[in-house]
Formats: sequence, C-alpha cells, structure tokens
Amino acid sequence: MSNVFQFLDQQRQDPTKLPAQERAQEFVEIYQPFEQADLEQQSDRCLDCGNPYCEWKCPVHNYIPDWLRLAKQGRILEAADMAHQTNSLPEMCGRVCPQDRLCEGACTLNDEFGAVTIGSVEKYITDEAIKQGWKPDLSKVIPREEHVAVIGAGPAGLACADVLTRNGAKVTVYDRHPEIGGLLTFGIPSFKLEKSVVRTRRQLLEGMGIEFKLNCEIGKDISFEQIVDDHSAVFLGLGTYKAMAAGLPGESAQGVHQALPFLIANTAEIEGYQVDDPYINLQGKRVVVLGGGDTAMDCVRTSVRQGATSVQCAYRRDEANMPGSRREVTNAREEGVEFLFNRQPLSIKTDPCGQVVAVECIETALGDADEWGRRRPEPIAGSEHLLPADAVLIAFGFQPSPPAWLATHGIITDEKGRVLAPEQGKFGLQTSNPKVFAGGDMVRGSDLVVTAIDQGRKAALGMLDMFDAAIRKRA
Ligand code: FAD
Ligand code: SF4
Repeated sequence: MSNVFQFLDQQRQDPTKLPAQERAQEFVEIYQPFEQADLEQQSDRCLDCGNPYCEWKCPVHNYIPDWLRLAKQGRILEAADMAHQTNSLPEMCGRVCPQDRLCEGACTLNDEFGAVTIGSVEKYITDEAIKQGWKPDLSKVIPREEHVAVIGAGPAGLACADVLTRNGAKVTVYDRHPEIGGLLTFGIPSFKLEKSVVRTRRQLLEGMGIEFKLNCEIGKDISFEQIVDDHSAVFLGLGTYKAMAAGLPGESAQGVHQALPFLIANTAEIEGYQVDDPYINLQGKRVVVLGGGDTAMDCVRTSVRQGATSVQCAYRRDEANMPGSRREVTNAREEGVEFLFNRQPLSIKTDPCGQVVAVECIETALGDADEWGRRRPEPIAGSEHLLPADAVLIAFGFQPSPPAWLATHGIITDEKGRVLAPEQGKFGLQTSNPKVFAGGDMVRGSDLVVTAIDQGRKAALGMLDMFDAAIRKRA
C-alpha cells in the first residue's frame, strides 16, 4: 500500500555525481544514472497533490505525478509514452532544465523536505525506455497531404517536426550544422548532455519518417523563397546567435574570445564535427570568464576540463542575483572554479604585442531594483583592481539575429529583432506571413530548451489548425 508520508522516511536523493577531481578532466555527464530501486524510492516521495504545482510550473505541463506513479510501478514503457504526450525531448529536459526554478522549485516538498527529483526521473524513464526498445507508436497515424519545411534542428524545430509527424504531415528539417540539436549539440557541453543522447534521438526521429537535410543553410545553399514555394508551410526555429558585445576597451585583444564559438569548437573537436569556429585550447592558461549565466558556467567548466591553470568567474552582482542555475554554480565550484562576485569589468589590459594580460575590474554594491526587479550593480569608487589573465571568455548573452530574408518575405520583427509570432493568434505562432510559423529563441529571445520545445509543439498545432481550416473551406 502506498505510504503518503514516504517523504518523511526517505530523503531527497540526487543521482550520484562523479568525484570532482575525476570529472574535471573529462567531457562526460557528471550525474550517474539512477538504479531502478532509487527511482522507485524517489518517485514514491511524490505526495500526488490534488493540484500539482510542478505540472503548472513546467513549461510543457508534463503529467508529472502520473509518470512518477508509472515509474514507481516499473511501467517504464508506459511512462515514456506518457512523457512524450507533452514533451518531444524528455531526456534532454531531464538533463538540462533548471529544475530548481521550474518543476522542482514548485514541488510542495521543496525547501523543508527536499523536492521530488523530477528531472532525474524524467531522464531515467526516457533513457531506460529507449534501452528497452521503446519507439513512438505511429500505428494509428493517418497520413496527411501537407509537407512542412522546418528550418533549424534545435529543440524548437525538433519539437515542431515531432508533433507534425505524429499528426500525419510529412516533414523535412533543414539545418546549417552537420548534426541536429542546435544548442543542445553546438552549445551545451557534453558534461551536461552527452552528444550520443542527441544522436539516439535523431535515430528515433528518422525512424518516424522525419527527413533531415544537414549542412544546408537556408538563404545560402537554398533560397528561402524556394523553401516557401516547395512546402505547404514553413516553421522557423533559427535561435539567437548575435553575441552581446562587452563594450570594453581592449575587447578585440588576442586571447579574448566570445563564449559560443569557444564552446562550439570544443564540442566539434571532441565529437569530430566540421565547423567554421577554430578550436581554442586553454591548457596552462589563467582564464577569466565574464558573465554569470548558464553560458558562463559552461565556459568555466570547459576551461577547467581543458587544463587551465586557474579559472575565475567575474560577475557584477552577488551570488543570489546570478542568472545561472544554482546546480551548475555548485558543480563549477566543486570543480575548482573561483567566483568573484560584485566585480564589474572596466577594460582589457594587453602587452605591447596586443595579447591580453589582465582584466581591470571595479567592485560593486547592489542598488535599487531595475525595471525587471533585479538590483542594479553600482561601482564603488577607488576599488579598481586587476585580475591577471592569459585568456578571457565573454559570456554576456545573445541578441536575436534575424536574417535579412525575413523582412523580404513579410515577416515582421519587434524592436529587439524577435520574430512576431503570437501564441494566442488565430493560428498559434503564425508570423505576419501566413504560410510561415516561428518559435523558440528567435521569438522569445534567449531562453530555455523546454520553452523552445513548448513553442515548437504549439506552432505545429497552429499549422495543423490552419491546414484543417483550409480543407473545411475547400469542402
Ligand atoms: P537553437 O537551439 O539555437 O537552434 C537553432 C538552429 O537553427 C541551429 O541548429 C542553427 O544551426 C539553425 N539555423 C540557424 N539559421 C539557419 C539557417 N539560415 N539555415 C539552416 N539552419 C539554421 N537552456 C536550458 O534549458 N538549459 C541549459 O543548461 C542551457 N544551457 C545553455 C548553454 C549555452 C552555452 C547556451 C548558448 C544556451 C543554453 N541554453 C540552455 C539555452 C537553450 O540552449 C536555448 O534556449 C535553446 O536551444 C533554443 O532552442 P531553439 O530551437 O530556439 O534554437
Ligand atoms: Fe521539469 Fe523541465 Fe521536465 Fe518540465 S520538462 S518536468 S520543467 S525537467
């Protein structure tokens, strides 16, 4: 019989991590998989609240208590089927969602007793089901006549392709990279998400009939016009790729690098992918990373693994106001990263040959809240100092980077360059060009894997509504 007070006897237990010294040398996932027994104990902690806050806080509204119950009973294949009803890439979300801010943050047991380990269970269910031969069941799908082009094989594009295919449409996905995944592959490092997980998902999606045309940049290898002409509808999930400049004197010095090209080239080097960005080796270097978000955390931890002699992360607010996931800050600290809070960079200092030698910083105190409610860092006069550095990585985030061909096809963007595609429009996530839908970072601005998945799925439903409306009109 189920014991609702199980959470009193059984503490929250995260999956075991590899020892910090060992993992700081390897680009492999640091969390070890749960055993079935751990999974049962952890799933059994769920109170099955009448109004599950975790489900509401999860952007795709996963049926969390229901698949926890199936997992607890060992019904992994059914749990995987249920997980896929709301999420196209549950194994990715289980690994990379900031659960402390989402589902687990909203768990009734959070704080006092420790939230249910929802993310780890989601990961276990999908990994284990796939190991047992689970595949999406498309036996009841009725083929449709429509053929959709998805541009961008990131989480938004993959989720859109998944939902369209499960509803009978034919889908071709185009991406300029040699592998699918977008930032899941060419951004998020392997110690958070091993690339074999993405390749396994690719096999499943191809098995569903989705066609991938990779190494194919729309606007260069094929014109957008041709894509629009050849398909019933188009989904855009191009992401956001324009790095925010630091605006610091000396920013173009040798040894100063932008975060994303550094991370992309590192993964490409390990996985053997051909990319344009050159590999940057930080072995034996004193590295300073500027920024406090997830990208900065990925940079510091990649630098450690490359063999940097020291890695410091300078962030202009305090730890409580850092945008990066708490979990990743803890992991970075364990791996030897030094955090310097309340430090605002002022300039990059170089030697006579133009090579970076230090970052000039000033200490800050937190002032009043800005329009988003975050307290402003205010420089403390006279606290200027130098952080010696052989390499500097700039991780200040990304701005939308809409290609010029959007405007020539009547696709409107806002003042920040985000594509306008309202979720609540006549057909969800339709752009100002009725044949074109969009979602993910290019609509929301830089955000999360799970919110990109959510929008990709909603755009697919919007397209299906549009196709059905056209059929009704023809009849
Ligand atoms: P993307 O993932 O960027 O995919 C866009 C795809 O479009 C790319 O594959 C690109 O090659 C392709 N493309 C672009 N233009 C063209 C073209 N003209 N022709 C063909 N293809 C094109 N989120 C989390 O939830 N957890 C994390 O831990 C996390 N860590 C992150 C770490 C880093 C370093 C970064 C940069 C981001 C991280 N994020 C994280 C954010 C998350 O990765 C993104 O929000 C998410 O990937 C956005 O999905 P998307 O599908 O909109 O775009
Ligand atoms: Fe939590 Fe993310 Fe999974 Fe939703 S998708 S249940 S937020 S880990």
